Amino acid sequence: MKGDASDVKPRFESDLGKCPWETGIEADPGWEVHRQTLEAHRPFHDLPTSRTLPDGTRRYAAITGEPLFDANGDFKGYRGVGRDITTQKVAEARIQYLATHDSLTNLPNRVMFNQLLSVAVQSAKRNARGLAVLFIDLDRFKIINDSLGHETGDQLLQEIGSRLRRTLRGSDVVARLGGDEFVVLLQEVSEAAHVATVARKILAALARPIVLKGQECRTTASIGISLYPTDADDEPSLMKNADMAMYLAKDEGKNNFQFYLREVRAQSVERLRLEANLRRALERREFSLNYQPKLDLRTDTISGVEALLRWNNAELGSISPSKFISIAEETGLIVPIGTWVLRSACEQNVAWQRAGLPPVRVTVNLSARQFTDENLLGDIASALSETGLAPQFLELEITEGMMIRNPERTRRVLCAIKQLGVRLAIDDFGTGYSSLGQLKNFPIDTLKVDRSFVREIPYDTADSAITKATIAMGKALGLTVVAEGVETPGQMQFLRAYGCDEIQGFYFSKPIVADQFAELLHTHRATPTLGAR
Ligand code: C2E
Ligand code: MG
Ligand code: MG
Repeated sequence: MKGDASDVKPRFESDLGKCPWETGIEADPGWEVHRQTLEAHRPFHDLPTSRTLPDGTRRYAAITGEPLFDANGDFKGYRGVGRDITTQKVAEARIQYLATHDSLTNLPNRVMFNQLLSVAVQSAKRNARGLAVLFIDLDRFKIINDSLGHETGDQLLQEIGSRLRRTLRGSDVVARLGGDEFVVLLQEVSEAAHVATVARKILAALARPIVLKGQECRTTASIGISLYPTDADDEPSLMKNADMAMYLAKDEGKNNFQFYLREVRAQSVERLRLEANLRRALERREFSLNYQPKLDLRTDTISGVEALLRWNNAELGSISPSKFISIAEETGLIVPIGTWVLRSACEQNVAWQRAGLPPVRVTVNLSARQFTDENLLGDIASALSETGLAPQFLELEITEGMMIRNPERTRRVLCAIKQLGVRLAIDDFGTGYSSLGQLKNFPIDTLKVDRSFVREIPYDTADSAITKATIAMGKALGLTVVAEGVETPGQMQFLRAYGCDEIQGFYFSKPIVADQFAELLHTHRATPTLGAR
């Protein structure tokens, strides 16, 4: 190549008469082996070499040499040729880079992170030092991706990647594991307090609003932390424990960080106490139901009511469902408890109707565990027939997770439930991983927009945009859209303006006991108040 010749020539002239290792040319893996070859007067083939030109570019050549001997067999020197392999080397480096980096954020990927972590663990072992792995998962990425588009989602991930990079020191490793999962490796840390400070810095950096497509977006993250050597002393366990701790952070309401060891230990003591009591709660008749009405925004009537489980225990006091439902699920206790809820809610609804109140639909939450129970359909059918409730006055709420885990089976069960004449709702929509597109494959009637989106409307532009889009898409699919957690008149006006069908939340009514609900149903029919405002 011409251009190369002019670059290289001046160097070549000054190189004349020198050994290659005296010229600034580097060999891979160093000259030592090659010198032995030369001293032994052996031929060599395609020795990889490289040099940096005066303009800073790097060129690679593969050199092949044959020893020359005279008629007496005396060694005279080498005759050789060099081949420019720069293009090939650059391509190889690029392939190597692509295999170890995430193309969207340019951060190291999972493969590379595992390599770096492995090296770091070895070095921490040798030097008796500590290190920390932080698993970072964005809290609401899926819904932003779905409602504002994938391009926006990509942009958000890039911005998150560069914020993480800017927040951390050069010696810390930031990688993207895939989707909205990032991971950070902090080296040479020995104190949990120091790691906590870094985690706080990360949360603060990620929580700052991001402008995407002209809209201010807010996304938070949940962080799980595991420490070497306290929590684990090999890479797979460090990763697994950080991941588990991340789920704890999600359970704790997101936008926070949790350490593996401390949390798991503290939780297990409390958990065992809850579990032991929960096992006896049904027979001790410690459960009751509260009822939270839903208001139809068009007709200003109470269109339905959600049954919410309450647990009151002599030793522990009243325990919130967010604390005990997950334990009931893990232990399988949710199956008999859920059957009790279903039966009691149907019974209560019949009692209201018999008292002459306008008929409303009662909604019961189903947990994932109940969903895999063989007797679910039978339980629903007998709750209806034994209490005498007409099926159109019962609605079951399921969460998005159930549709993802086993879509085929879920579809079958949902269809069978629909066959009974019972309605189906998706609860807490937007917090899980399903997309609106997937919803149309399931026989769903109602979509409940999660309260985390409703909370910031109309002030937060992104949440407002997400809610608007969700309402519009839900309506386009022919679903009844309910907004959860409506606490202010401003939220209600916004929801009404964008065509939301129903609201549920403290603004209209908190969850109340059955008699209070009967009273409300009675008086609201006589003098509707809120919806007309
Ligand atoms: P969910 O089904 O999404 O129920 C709505 C929750 O939001 C209720 O919490 C309700 O009290 C609360 N809420 C309603 N309006 C507002 C508001 O305006 N502001 C705020 N900040 N909160 C509001 P609760 O009763 O603590 O129940 C929590 C979760 O526990 C429920 O969420 C549901 O997932 C689960 N759960 C409750 N009862 C049952 C049940 O019988 N079976 C099953 N499997 N899960 C249940
Ligand atoms: Mg619910
Ligand atoms: Mg909900």
